[in-house]
Amino acid sequence: MYISRKGSQIKPSSTLAITAKAKEMQDEGVDIIGFGAGEPDCDTPSHIKQAAIQAIEEGFTKYTPVAGTIELRKAICHQLQQDHGLIYAPNQIVISNGAKHSLTNAFMAILNPGDEVIIPAPFWLSYPEMVGLADGIPMIVYTKKENQYKLTPEELENAITSRTKAIIINSPSNPTGMIYTKEELQALVAVALKYDLYIISDEIYEKLIYDGAIHVSVPTLGADVYEKTILINGVSKSYSMTGWRIGYAAAHPKIASVMSNIQSHGSSNPNSIAQKAALAAYTGPQDCVEEMRRAFEERRNYMMERIEQIPNISAFKPRGAFYVLFDMSELIGITYEGEIIHAADDLARILLEKAQVAVVPCADFGCPNHIRLSYAISMDNIKKGLDRIEALIKDLLFLDASV
Ligand code: PMP
Ligand code: GLU
Repeated sequence: MYISRKGSQIKPSSTLAITAKAKEMQDEGVDIIGFGAGEPDCDTPSHIKQAAIQAIEEGFTKYTPVAGTIELRKAICHQLQQDHGLIYAPNQIVISNGAKHSLTNAFMAILNPGDEVIIPAPFWLSYPEMVGLADGIPMIVYTKKENQYKLTPEELENAITSRTKAIIINSPSNPTGMIYTKEELQALVAVALKYDLYIISDEIYEKLIYDGAIHVSVPTLGADVYEKTILINGVSKSYSMTGWRIGYAAAHPKIASVMSNIQSHGSSNPNSIAQKAALAAYTGPQDCVEEMRRAFEERRNYMMERIEQIPNISAFKPRGAFYVLFDMSELIGITYEGEIIHAADDLARILLEKAQVAVVPCADFGCPNHIRLSYAISMDNIKKGLDRIEALIKDLLFLDASV
């Protein structure tokens, strides 16, 4: 069967595949602990669900403007002003089917074939695929653990070529949980502006930050930065609304209008009912966000304490988002039940098959020999899952020592 070059090159999302696999095993009655999910475990707050029910009952079930209802775009403008002092007009906001869709629209709006986009690694695995789908070339720049996985201005400048069109900044980061400070961001955007690059700033985890950290929104860093930034955000993570599929981009009116034109042919408006729900999220009480943030911080602290006690693995302490990334390279070369562990994929498979724990091996995130654990699951499951991981790793090391 003939398949296009683009179609044949695309890889399925392994995060979604692992999450689906864990859910499937759970449904079959397997007692599986899933550390894969990139989504909060709690339900969508009830006032948000009620707004959607009301939307259905009131017949708000037709097409809306492609870029989203004016009331939701205004609410987003209001939120951006309140949270960050950012001034956007509704014609600068394009609401899409999740932040993922906003990102794909953004790349399609700014890239010509062969244009390069700088992606600091570790990165969220969809970025390179999205850039490729828009005929761009992902240019991966490997950051260093000793720099807390932060891209330095020198590393950025060295990676820029005459084809470079944009850089992706994702703070707080998936998968590391790293957060850039204001000064670090200023230094990076200074380089980006020097070469007239677009800045795609994915701030979807902005509300989930710990240890009193402060989130700095990239377009606040100056009028020239604001002009060149496509800000990406949405309700999926902050309001536990992953299934509703509402994300948005805030950008220069020209870019926003191109993104809207692209969307007008690809998918039209995002779901009208979900837009009403998102409106309730942005305009309703915000204590649900803080409640969730606090729960995540507690879980992160527990995860770090436990992982530090597990031999031969080491984790980076995340300051935001809801993932812990650990290095498993000291386990490479160990044989377990006749199988040699060559890479994180092998350890992930053994954990799933022998310990009923689903984790995300991070080769697709630009960090081989690392495993990502999501702590967007209940504390009970975190405890149970870490017990299993600890027992399996100790077993691996014991068997290895005894041969
Ligand atoms: N950016 C990052 C860094 C993410 O982890 C995710 C999670 N899927 C998204 C964007 C997309 O979120 P959404 O569910 O709104 O598409
Ligand atoms: N962003 C989440 C994750 O990294 C959700 C899954 C996805 O969309 O890839 O797990």
